Amino acid sequence: MKDVDSINVLKYEAVIGLEVHAQMLTDTKIFCGCSTKFGSEPNTQTCPVCIGMPGVLPVLNKKALEFTIKTGLAMNCKIPALSRFARKNYFYPDLPKGYQISQYELPICEHGYIEIVVNGEIKTIGITRIHMEEDAGKNIHEGRGNYSFVDLNRAGVPLMEIVSEPDIRSPEEAVEYMKKLRTILRYLGVCDGNMEQGSLRCDANVSVRLVEQKEFGVKTEVKNLNSFKFVGKALEYEIRRQIKVLEDGGKVIQETRLWDSERGITESMRTKEEAHDYRYFPEPDLVPIMVQQNWIDEIRASLPELPDIKRKRFVLEYGLPEHNADLLTSEKSIAEHFEEAVKQGADPITLSNWYITVVFKHLKEQGKEINETLLRPNHLSRLSELVAVGAVSGTMAKTTVIYEIIQTGKMPDEIIKEKGLSQISDSGEIEKAIDDVIAKHPKEVERFKAGEEKLIGFFVGQVMKMTKGKANPQMVNELLKKKLS
Ligand code: ADP
Ligand code: ZN
Ligand code: MG
Repeated sequence: MKDVDSINVLKYEAVIGLEVHAQMLTDTKIFCGCSTKFGSEPNTQTCPVCIGMPGVLPVLNKKALEFTIKTGLAMNCKIPALSRFARKNYFYPDLPKGYQISQYELPICEHGYIEIVVNGEIKTIGITRIHMEEDAGKNIHEGRGNYSFVDLNRAGVPLMEIVSEPDIRSPEEAVEYMKKLRTILRYLGVCDGNMEQGSLRCDANVSVRLVEQKEFGVKTEVKNLNSFKFVGKALEYEIRRQIKVLEDGGKVIQETRLWDSERGITESMRTKEEAHDYRYFPEPDLVPIMVQQNWIDEIRASLPELPDIKRKRFVLEYGLPEHNADLLTSEKSIAEHFEEAVKQGADPITLSNWYITVVFKHLKEQGKEINETLLRPNHLSRLSELVAVGAVSGTMAKTTVIYEIIQTGKMPDEIIKEKGLSQISDSGEIEKAIDDVIAKHPKEVERFKAGEEKLIGFFVGQVMKMTKGKANPQMVNELLKKKLS
């Protein structure tokens, strides 16, 4: 695609709404007792109900209902007095019944919202609805010669579909929204949130309109977005594509498009089907759902402290910037780790920066969660103390000590001793290094004395280099100024 003029891009605004499918962490399927375990031999976790034999009856898994209500409450939804299932009819080999049991006009959760933080600002995104449905099976085309096979282990695995209002205005907001959904689902323990393995799947609806325009433009739906990165990239691409179509005098057509991550483009897959194509009708084999208020109250009382509330509390209680608080509360285990270290005396702001700039990086590199590493809250509270008393520099703590703790589980005192990382606060030793540096750089000294004061940074750098980063930077600064004046 030839790119559009970036001036023209500014005339437009994107409108985005996401439809997210989350596989629930129940032990059994939504309408039968088969296991939901991932990765078993094909068709070993099936029964007459989930392979769609005639004459058998589905029975709703109460846990799936509870998980969905829990999620709805966590996302500030209303739970209507009456809800029911509907048949969504379509024909595909991975759907043996010829219809998917889903919900249509009476979903279990409606009218909610969640908060995201973008550029340090809080924004509210509406949740239109959350409904329950069954997953389909999986077609297997690879490695079987001219045949395709169907694995029905996944057929009947409980899904929640979470539909957002078209409140999202940029790819960045869409990614933040996805991250927040994942965070909430993981706090609740209702979904593992693994996008690569498909337990969290996202379809993105997107349109563009002129900035001053009120009505929404025609939207397309982009599928196959199995990572946060792809959600952002696909939307960026699709927005520019639509702008280009309009700028060239064309019209965006309503259709379903597929994200091709290898080529970095979206491609038309099919024209969008309308609701009437699915011949939705109420599911006659399942009774309507009427949830009693006391059960809703019980579920509400069982909710953990949720990320948005935790984030606000972290801002108030620890004085963290909104952005830091948002990142620290993105995983419950991190938030708890952080609070424990603070309780043991660590400075909250320094500490929050350690998690964000150092710990997260190592967790990502090692593909581990914090509780799977050797890093304990008391390591960090002790390190914070050592930095505060000047036993080790903040830089050394960040660049070396934390990493060593994660690798070995040793206390920071031991690591500092073993690796000789103690901060040099002995003025004699620092002066010696300064004298060396001054002797080696007569030209710079002359320039400095002639008024080029910004060279102080150069001298500090040289001294730090000479002391392998161990000199107390404040003392280096002071002593340098004294010697150079
Ligand atoms: P459909 O009838 O195509 O299923 P819905 O109104 O049910 O569309 O909305 C599906 C998703 O698309 C929702 O997440 C909604 O927020 C989003 N959406 C609706 N209209 C637009 C639009 N014009 N541009 C972008 N997203 C939209
Ligand atoms: Zn079954
Ligand atoms: Mg719809």
